[in-house]
This record gives sequence, C-alpha cells and structure tokens, in this order.
Amino acid sequence: DIDKKYLLDSIRDVKDFPKPGIVFKDITTLLNNKDAYKFLIDHLEQRYKSYDLDYIAGIDSRGFIFGAALADRLGIGFVPIRKVGKLPAATVCEKYELEYGFDQIEIHLDAFPKKDARVLVIDDLIATGGTANAAAKLVKDINANLVEMCFLIHLTFLDGAEKLKEHAPVYSVLEI
Ligand code: IMP
Repeated sequence: DIDKKYLLDSIRDVKDFPKPGIVFKDITTLLNNKDAYKFLIDHLEQRYKSYDLDYIAGIDSRGFIFGAALADRLGIGFVPIRKVGKLPAATVCEKYELEYGFDQIEIHLDAFPKKDARVLVIDDLIATGGTANAAAKLVKDINANLVEMCFLIHLTFLDGAEKLKEHAPVYSVLEI
C-alpha cells in the first residue's frame, strides 16, 4: 500500500558498507523524516495495542530507537538487549555465530520484574536471524513469555525468520 511504499522509499541503500559487496539498509533517512517515522510507530501501535504486552525488548542499537518509541506509545516498559560488556548489573549472555567468528549479547537477569511478563522483541532488520535467535533465547532464559518478534525489514532471501519460528511468531513491516 501507499504508506508502506513511502516507508520503503525512505530507507537508503548504501553500497559497500560495512564491507565491499554488502548493500546496507540505512534507516537514518527514515528517522529524520518525521512523516515516515510517525507512520512506522503509528503502524506498530495499531498492531500491538491489543497484544496486552508488558515490555518491549529492543536489540542493540537500532532496536532501541523503534522499541523505546513504541513502548512509550503503549504505556509499557522498555528493556535493552545489549552487546556484551555494556550492561552494568548481573546478566545472562548468549553467544551467536557471525560470518567469521561469533558475537555475544546479554540482558539483565532482573530485566522483567513483572512475573510471567509478556514481551515483544524488536529490531530494525533481520538478515541471517542469528542476532534475533540469541535475543529470543535470552528472553526465555529469564522466564519471560516471548509473544512475538518484530522487525522493520526482513531480508527474505536469507530466510532468517525460519529459525525463529520455534521461539515465537515473526512479524516484519517490510519484506525485501
Ligand atoms: P542477523 O543476525 O544476520 O540477522 O543480522 C541482523 C543484525 O545486523 C541486526 O541487529 C541489524 O541491525 C544488523 N544489520 C545487518 N544488516 C543490516 C543492514 O543492511 N542495515 C541495518 N542493519 C543491519
């Protein structure tokens, strides 16, 4: 539809970033466009207002930008899932594979004070799904209910959403 086309057109392709051969989806041109940014948060608010969520968990770092805005709209709390070494209190950590080597993300052990918390995980983009898969495990590690995983952009040729299905439903605003 027209608004999703507008949203898609607001995202810029940057060639050869971070490495030669990669076309990076740059969302900064969506964020500085007040109409595109508002359309996106309106759209997410409409979808999730009936989900009875307790927390939005955003993935470091672009997941914070959408996740925090949505949490405010829904009147619920926001929880950061961060790259290793950034969170100050006690954490649980998940390791995941990258193309070369591995990375780790973590969450505070007491991130969801509400018992049986209903949680939405959000990030800007899903490529291989490795990051989101680790994020799903973190939410489950600390005994919260992972209700859904949400992405602005799903790069469908990589089929990263497939490995998330065992954890929760996946929703993406734009498929590319
Ligand atoms: P995955 O783990 O392979 O699914 O990669 C997803 C993670 O890498 C997310 O946290 C994204 O923010 C980031 N990422 C990968 N490619 C892009 C891109 O083209 N634009 C923005 N973020 C990207």
